[in-house]
Parts: sequence; structure tokens; C-alpha cells
Amino acid sequence: MSGTAQIGVTGLAVMGRNLARNFARHGYTVAVHNRSYAKTESLVAEHGSDGEFIPSESMADFVASLERPRKVVVMVKAGGPTDAVIDELVPLLEEGDIVVDAGNAHFPDTIRREAALKEHGLHFVGTGVSGGEEGALNGPSIMPGGTPESYESLGPILEDISAKVDGVPCCTYVGSDGAGHFVKMVHNGIEYADMQLIAEAYDLLRQGLGASAAEIGEIFEQWNTGDLESFLIEITADVLQHVDAETGQAFVDIVLDQAEQKGTGRWTVQNGLDLGVPITGIAEATFARALSGSVPQRAAGRAVLPAHAQEWEVKDRDAFIEDVRQALYASKVVAYSQGFDQIAAAATEYGWDIDRGAMARIWRGGCIIRARFLNRITEAYERDQDLPLLLADQYFTDAVASGLPAWRRIVAGAAQNGVPTPAFSSSLAYYDGVRAERLPAALVQAQRDFFGAHTYKRVDREGTFHTEWSGDRTEAEA
Ligand code: NAP
Repeated sequence: MSGTAQIGVTGLAVMGRNLARNFARHGYTVAVHNRSYAKTESLVAEHGSDGEFIPSESMADFVASLERPRKVVVMVKAGGPTDAVIDELVPLLEEGDIVVDAGNAHFPDTIRREAALKEHGLHFVGTGVSGGEEGALNGPSIMPGGTPESYESLGPILEDISAKVDGVPCCTYVGSDGAGHFVKMVHNGIEYADMQLIAEAYDLLRQGLGASAAEIGEIFEQWNTGDLESFLIEITADVLQHVDAETGQAFVDIVLDQAEQKGTGRWTVQNGLDLGVPITGIAEATFARALSGSVPQRAAGRAVLPAHAQEWEVKDRDAFIEDVRQALYASKVVAYSQGFDQIAAAATEYGWDIDRGAMARIWRGGCIIRARFLNRITEAYERDQDLPLLLADQYFTDAVASGLPAWRRIVAGAAQNGVPTPAFSSSLAYYDGVRAERLPAALVQAQRDFFGAHTYKRVDREGTFHTEWSGDRTEAEA
């Protein structure tokens, strides 16, 4: 039996409900279902005027209300609940139907689920959805994986409800099986880095200038009119100028300084380690949140550790602000460059064909890291789709080079003045590492050969060698 709904959504908490409303507002007939029926009823009661909904109490009725091939969006709690819903759905579906997991799944789970559903002749489309509840309702950035075949029928609907920038949808086919959820994970990792960098810039301005939160908010507002223009800079300007109604203090001053995380930053860093890709900006951002939450360690450190730091004497206020701006931009380019490296490495490792320029394009709207400079990234990959290093694209090389003296002044100043800038500092260290003619890794390799006979290669001839360190120190080809 086949129904009339063009798309179905099961899981009607805040994200699923908004996604269902978004489909309905775009003229699709939407089958809706939730484990507990009350959420389904309230969606239709409160938002029935958004469009055509077909509510069902049972999963069987929900599936029956969909036209074939069925397209079912699962928007439930990630992990076990997603598997539970899939297990309930699969026996009710028929060959060629499409199951879309739009939750925040970990990509290895998506690879596993895709393989399992393929056995049943079903398409499983792990889909990254960014932009939170607001995005889900008004246009998110959508990163679907799965088969190209499933994208043919599903893609136009997802593109329709996605955010648009210059009329271009913020949705495109990412790659097979887990590619969509992978790219969403890296997106979140980059978001961590971007937020940490902005936080460090704020801290530098606060400590360097002694400026108030509101004054710094105005500086961010100004920055948002240039290269740094982005959603995160915009909301930072807003947050910094917000006053706590109860105390009359700057809002940022009454918030406990212990940042939380849901785990996608951690997944990104773990994967960076697995792939051997130095995503130092994302890692430092994740560890900075961890440090902020290390309450006993911070109490112990605060009690006894001296700073031996200088007083920050900023002579030229405007020049200092401009230095911080340039250092922020350069560090941000590094963090994005590293994230795009991770996507390239994953594509090789997991057999995905990912167009990195297209990823930057679909992040321009609907998501947290939406920013003007993503256009520049798309252009860079259009110039060279195999670009080995985003920083090496002429535009970014020039942009970072012009800010380099400022970047060095700020990182050096932060160190001398005892201001922690893990993301700024590690980004500069990465920059100097990746451009270095020669790295001290040669010494590390020699040490490895000394204590573990791990062998080494020579700069002057082919082959792998080992030196008899504890014997006569002759060298033998390994
Ligand atoms: P949520 O709180 O993560 O999950 C609640 C939903 O899951 C409810 O519909 C609940 O049904 C259902 N559920 C939980 N366990 C279930 C089970 N064993 N069987 C069937 N249904 C079950 O909801 P959310 O905040 O709307 O998020 C949905 C998904 O989107 C999650 O994967 C989340 O990580 C992701 N998300 C993404 C963003 C973003 O920006 N992309 C933002 C937030 C969330 P009942 O009503 O019956 O309990």
C-alpha cells in the first residue's frame, strides 16, 4: 500500500518538529510520527497551518502514509534510539525506500547502518544538519551522504528546504555512506576552533586594553563589517553588549567560566589522531574547554602558580586592536585549513569523493560557522581541487602573510603577559611548522632509532637504515 505523503519525519522533539514544519512550509505533504503520540498531536495542533501534515500514532500507519519510494527522516536522539527506530522501521519498508538519519550520528555508526540497510535493499542516508532549531525551521545547512541514487530523489527536497545564499542551496551530495556525518563532525570541530579563537581575541582585548565587555562588543561589531564577517562574530558582539538584568553587570561577567561540550569536538580530535592530521586549532579548542572545566586543577594552580608576567602596556590602542584582528584572521585560516585537510585525508581513508569547495559553499548559510570568508575557500578549491594546503592558495598565503607581523606580536605579547592563547599560539606554531624548510623531526627519528631500532631514512640516498648505537655505530641498510 502506498500513501500520499512525499516525506516523513519520525522524532518530533525540537529538531524534528522544526524540520517537519520546514518541509510543510515548502509545500510538501509531511507524514509525522513520534514514539509518544502527544508530540505528534501538539505539532499538528500548534502548527497545522504551516501546511499539510499526516499524523500517525503507529510506525506502521506512518510508513503506510508515505508515497513510494518512501523517504523517512529519522530525527531522534543519536545512538541507541536511532538504532531502535531503524529496527522498527526496516521490516515495514520496501526495496528502494530511503531512510535519512538527520541526527548527530557518529560517522562510524552511519557506515555500519548504511551497510546493514543495503542488505535489505534500502538506502540509508546519514545526513549532517547544522543550524540548530532555528536552522531546522528556516533553512539549515544540509550534508547528506549515502548513495548518489538516493540523492536523485531526495536531494531536490533537501535543497528546497535548505538555507540559500545568493540563491544557491546550502545542501549538496557529500559522498557515500558516512561522508555526510563526517563532514558535519568536522564542521562542528571547526566551530569549536572558531569560537575559541574569538574568545581568545576577546580576552586579549580585555587584558591588553582593559576594555569593558561592551567596548569589545563594539570592536567586534566593527570587525563584522570586514573579512571576519560571520555569524559567530555577530553574536559575539551582541553577547558582549548584553547586560545582566539582575545585577546590571556585563552578561559575560556573570557566566561561570566552564565551557561544556557535547562530544563532536572530541570525535573530531580523535579522528584527527586516527588519520594523523594535525588539527591543532580544533584540538586546542577542545582541550581549552576541558581545562576550563578542570575545577580542582584550576583551584590548585590559581593558589600557587606564579605568573612572572609583565604588565601589558599597550601604547597605541588602535594598532593593538588591528593586531588582534589580523592575528585572529590568520589563526582562523589555519584552523579551517586544518579542517579541510582532515576532510581530504578522510576521503582517501574511507573512499569518499568529497568536493571541499562545495563543502565551504554549503556552510555559507544556515549553520553556525557561516561566514563571508567561506567564499574564498570555495574559490581556492575551484582554482585547484587537489590543493594540498589551503594556506598555500595565493589568496590565503597573501592574506596571512600581510598579518604575520601582527600575529607574531600578539602571540609573543600574550606569552610575555601571561595571557593563555592556546589556539592563537598553536596556529602560529603550525604555520611555522608547515612552512619550515627543515624540522627537528630528524632528531626525533634519530632518537627512535637509538632506543628502539625504528630505522630512519637519509636525505642523501634511498633506503631505510639503522645505526648500531650500542655497538660500533656502523650503519646498515634495514
Ligand atoms: P533529542 O532530545 O535528541 O531526542 C528526543 C527525540 O528522540 C524525541 O522525539 C524522542 O521521542 C526520541 N526518542 C528518544 N529515544 C527514543 C527511542 N528509544 N525510540 C524512539 N524515539 C526515541 O531531540 P532533538 O534535540 O530534537 O535532536 C534530534 C537529533 O538532532 C539528535 O540526534 C540531535 O543530536 C540532533 N541535533 C542537531 C542539532 C543541530 O544543530 N543539527 C541541534 C540539536 C540536536 P519521545 O518524544 O517519545 O521521547
